[in-house]
Amino acid sequence: MIDQTHDPKLRSWVESANQAGTDFPIQNLPFGVFRGADGNGRIGVAIGDEILDVPAAIEDGCLQLPGDTACALCASSLNQFMGQGAASWRAARHSISALLACDAPSHPDLLRARADAEMLMPAKIGDYTDFYAARHHATNVGKMFRPDGEPLLPNYLHLPVGYHGRASSVVISGTPITRPHGQLKPDDSPPVFGPCRLLDHELEFAAFIGEGNSMGSRISMGDAAGRLFGVVILNDWSARDIQKWEYQPLGPFNAKNFASTISPWVVTMDALAPSRRPGPERESGDPAVLEYLQPVTNDVLDVTCEATISSAAMREEGIEPLRISRGSLADLTWTFTQMLAHHTSTGCPMHPGDMIGSGTISGPGKDARGCMLELTWRGTEPIQLPDGTERKFLLDGDELAISAWHETESGLRIGFGSCNGRIEPAR
Ligand code: CA
Repeated sequence: MIDQTHDPKLRSWVESANQAGTDFPIQNLPFGVFRGADGNGRIGVAIGDEILDVPAAIEDGCLQLPGDTACALCASSLNQFMGQGAASWRAARHSISALLACDAPSHPDLLRARADAEMLMPAKIGDYTDFYAARHHATNVGKMFRPDGEPLLPNYLHLPVGYHGRASSVVISGTPITRPHGQLKPDDSPPVFGPCRLLDHELEFAAFIGEGNSMGSRISMGDAAGRLFGVVILNDWSARDIQKWEYQPLGPFNAKNFASTISPWVVTMDALAPSRRPGPERESGDPAVLEYLQPVTNDVLDVTCEATISSAAMREEGIEPLRISRGSLADLTWTFTQMLAHHTSTGCPMHPGDMIGSGTISGPGKDARGCMLELTWRGTEPIQLPDGTERKFLLDGDELAISAWHETESGLRIGFGSCNGRIEPAR
């Protein structure tokens, strides 16, 4: 729903929020959790270069909210607030927007510098499921791994394919990523155990579930959009050599369970309202979607994403990171609402703070490929780095950074901040 919080003319008394190009204008207001002076998590809202300390604003009395909403926003994670549902989220957004607007009294004492803050996980993730919702990615991978068959498997256009991931290794942006060990199977010799040689990133987004469902009940397409709290950037680190040997017959296991990185600011579905489009478009000849997955609201999110890489040598020489891909969340064949409706179609319960990943976002163009496997076509077309080296997959010391934003019609950037991770040697 578009309302006064989206008004492009709104300005904040936080000057950095009014500057062109900021990820966090007053129309965004994403939620995150930062470490407070006592060491515990505190809920904050990003505004320009600052963080609004939400519990401090509630204590001060200048942020007035219904009692249960105020209580949830004084917790050390967003789970309770996520579980309160869309009416509570909207009430909080309205009050925070009014508090930060330039016609309200300024409260610099409630701000913390974003650059100095240590960000923590926004929620305790109970369960994490990763989908495979971009057909260009699935097609590219299908062509590489099954060159003799149809690239898309017969189920692909009928249901959002996914697997149950591992919540214990989802980490916040900036956490170092240790190269995993695993079983590797060279083509003509028996398997060996050792450090992964084909380490990859996967450019994805993830949605946090708000209000869940009880076991045995389903979430319909009509209700699904209102059950999504917000979206973060996700990098689903992947060990391609481990994956190749282990993935049949039950899908990925150790190739995916060692680390997944998320960006710290959850951009709410309310903030993304101006980005919503009808769809997803189906190609001519695609089968019709079964009724329980048919879109009834505008659920395609028009969000652009970019990945960059920098090597240790590039950083030492002061060379800017190299952009390796640019894609769009709108390129998904299945929306987060369809993923949620399908996930719960069996009566599988979802809880506040559960996370669903989109799958690697690749578009039709070569520069819109969302992982090294596709970008280098399984290592056959290496990427040239400005330090004179080349990459087929990620090496120790490489840093991957993903940024994302929706640009509104009036040119505002509803940004996601960034999702970073650096590869450390196996140990
Ligand atoms: Ca993935």
